[in-house]
Amino acid sequence: MNKFISHISKIGWCFDNTYARLPEIMLSRIAPIPVKDPKLVIFNHNLSKELGLNFSVIEDNLLPSIFAGSLLPQESECIAQAYAGHQFGYFTMLGDGRAIVIGEHLSKNNKRFDIQFKGSGKTPYSRNGDGRAALGPMLREYIISEAMHGLGISTTRSLAVVTTGENVIRETPLPGAILTRVAASHIRVGTFQYVTMQDDIKTLKTLFNYTINRHYPELKDTSNQALSLLKIVMEKQIKLVTDWMRVGFIHGVMNTDNMTVSGETIDYGPCAFMDNYNPETVFSSIDQYGRYAYFNQPGITKWNLARFAETLLPLINNDKDKAIDIASKTINSFGTLYKKCWLEMMRKKIGLLGEDSKDENLIIDLLSWMHQNKADYTNTFCFLMNENIQENKIYNNQGFISWKQQWQKRLKLHNNSPEKSLKLMRLVNPLVIARNHKVEEVLKEANNRNLNPFNDFLKVLEKPYEKQTKTNNYQFPAPSSEKKYQTFCGT
Ligand code: AMP
Ligand code: MG
Repeated sequence: MNKFISHISKIGWCFDNTYARLPEIMLSRIAPIPVKDPKLVIFNHNLSKELGLNFSVIEDNLLPSIFAGSLLPQESECIAQAYAGHQFGYFTMLGDGRAIVIGEHLSKNNKRFDIQFKGSGKTPYSRNGDGRAALGPMLREYIISEAMHGLGISTTRSLAVVTTGENVIRETPLPGAILTRVAASHIRVGTFQYVTMQDDIKTLKTLFNYTINRHYPELKDTSNQALSLLKIVMEKQIKLVTDWMRVGFIHGVMNTDNMTVSGETIDYGPCAFMDNYNPETVFSSIDQYGRYAYFNQPGITKWNLARFAETLLPLINNDKDKAIDIASKTINSFGTLYKKCWLEMMRKKIGLLGEDSKDENLIIDLLSWMHQNKADYTNTFCFLMNENIQENKIYNNQGFISWKQQWQKRLKLHNNSPEKSLKLMRLVNPLVIARNHKVEEVLKEANNRNLNPFNDFLKVLEKPYEKQTKTNNYQFPAPSSEKKYQTFCGT
């Protein structure tokens, strides 16, 4: 049985649960299934502070039960959300199969956050799954989502991880765990797809108005709110995918159920950072055809947005043909808008001020050189920022030297100075990313209950653009190996 704690006012929880008021078809009321012996593994003090929470007022021995969801704040209203989604292009009915939103917390500045337990037991949407999660993948989500936050990329956050004291069976028995995920909301493109499948315009309108109120109230005054929503979500997603491309992040499973309307990165399953530059990089073991490869990410974003647009058609115009026409025009503008955003971002990465007609070629030449020479993506930009990096012999290569001459010529244009360029580059080029081999290394230790390497890495990832004492430890590319790094879904 779940118990409720009444001294929430001491912690600072301020619940105002709005999603739970939506039509019953959109959710199931179910609480986290209590676990045997919860133990706190990691807690995010910074995020807790940002949320205006103070867990130090509560006895330490209560924290594991709080973050396992067996001791719930009095005002929580637990729900699993229904949604659908195109998974690798195929439409499926889904829903929170192993996650429960316990409520929406309002922080001091009135920002609203879903508080969700992931790995909290079966729900009506679990299908064949066990509703649980293993420690390794939950810690992996914790460190990568926090790394994304450190990089200044819009993302869901991680407040805590507990072990459950129970094993989960994957290929072998693994320690079970629960992650507390904090998100602006969990409204997905797939949530709209789910409602569209109900063929009930009233519920669609309800979800639509709810989304506008929750995320984009400024659109209420526009003449075609549905079209405005499509445009703003497109804008957010373009910004997001451009940020992913900037740091070499590969989401790995860009199904429509894993795309938020808030524009936050969500679902850290098979994601990973690219090391040597190769546009075709794929890490996910099940992504055989590279649907979600690095360079396909913008195209997939557009494809997902087209699925979102389809759900909005009845709200865009009563005349279906007109609605399709209007929505198509918007979706078709994706390419131009993305290209502009990407070019702006890449210009910053190489410190270019102003615009020049040859900029795109200069950028593509650099990327082609990196591809041909298997240069490390992150470290190449570090090298251009005069950072002292290991394994820099590759930059003595003639191709690179010729490119650099062109680059330096271009740098002089538009009243530029080396200082101005460097300042620009410093803002967008991380010195450190969550490199796969380092993530694996700290997770291995964490699985053996040694969290020190995990915490050291986390600390550096909090400020990836700043040189810290331990930054150097994390800048090495993975030692070359026969074995390709692989990530997995359904962990
Ligand atoms: P994901 O690949 O993590 O986006 O998950 C796709 C769907 O599978 C979602 O509906 C999840 O809730 C569900 N799911 C993933 N893992 C499990 C699990 N262990 N038990 C039940 N449902 C799961
Ligand atoms: Mg998902």
